[in-house]
Amino acid sequence: MKYHKLYEIGKNKLIAAGILEAELDSRLLLEAVCGTSKHDLLVNGERELSAGQIQTYVNHINKRENRIPLQYILGEQEFMGLKFLVTPDTLIPRQDTETLVEEVKRHLHDGQTILDMCTGTGCILLSLLYYSNNCLGWGVDISAAALDVAGRNEERIASLPRPAPPIKPVKWIKSDLFSEISGQFDIIVSNPPYIPTATIGTLMPEVCEHEPHLALDGKQDGLYFYRKIIDQSSQYLKRGGMLFLEIGCGQATDVTALMVERGFYDTVVIKDLAGHDRVVYCNII
Ligand code: GLN
Repeated sequence: MKYHKLYEIGKNKLIAAGILEAELDSRLLLEAVCGTSKHDLLVNGERELSAGQIQTYVNHINKRENRIPLQYILGEQEFMGLKFLVTPDTLIPRQDTETLVEEVKRHLHDGQTILDMCTGTGCILLSLLYYSNNCLGWGVDISAAALDVAGRNEERIASLPRPAPPIKPVKWIKSDLFSEISGQFDIIVSNPPYIPTATIGTLMPEVCEHEPHLALDGKQDGLYFYRKIIDQSSQYLKRGGMLFLEIGCGQATDVTALMVERGFYDTVVIKDLAGHDRVVYCNII
């Protein structure tokens, strides 16, 4: 079978299944299977595919028809210009979260210590370490399976060429929030689960049926983890330290109030590229 013909079959199956980005997804899956690029559809559409390639592609399309996210099928997602391994044990890194990383970067100094609470794939911490010098990172998660993915991502990122000394080894800690944490840090950053439990079922099937609820569920009002993290962070921040949190839709006022209640000051809310409040950060004396 020819390349463009198989693409058409895949695309039509995804359109019929109601997949929003059917054209893009069917093309990206084919390119991943064949090791090709966007241009091949235009200039190499007549190439013949092997039986193995066809079979793998059909399997991928079947998964996508069943709403498995593209990133879990391909096993990776780009974030901050770096490629991260993802599995169904980890949330897929979002572009919105780049706003959080960019904001931390603006305040981070070389050699500082960073604790990433609910690290998942490790995308926040590892990109901060990659784009700074000599910082030390602690990545915390309750899920051992997520920490395994984060450790594999560390190997990937540490092996990338960069015009600076290698990133310092990360301490990955399995912990229910701060229960296993000791010491004090310059920066605490977190993108905790923040979807109210009752809202999860209304999200796209890709999210609610396939991403880990452990990484999404912010309990009844979505604020459970903010309360816990804000309550405890002051103990784990050095003097002059800063706390950075990603937030969901409409949570800026509540999260800012929690910070002020706990004696944090200079709270700032930052919007993402879509214009939604996305990050709140604050200082400790
Ligand atoms: N820190 C990870 C991310 O931003 C995981 C977040 C989570 O599991 N809630 O992608």
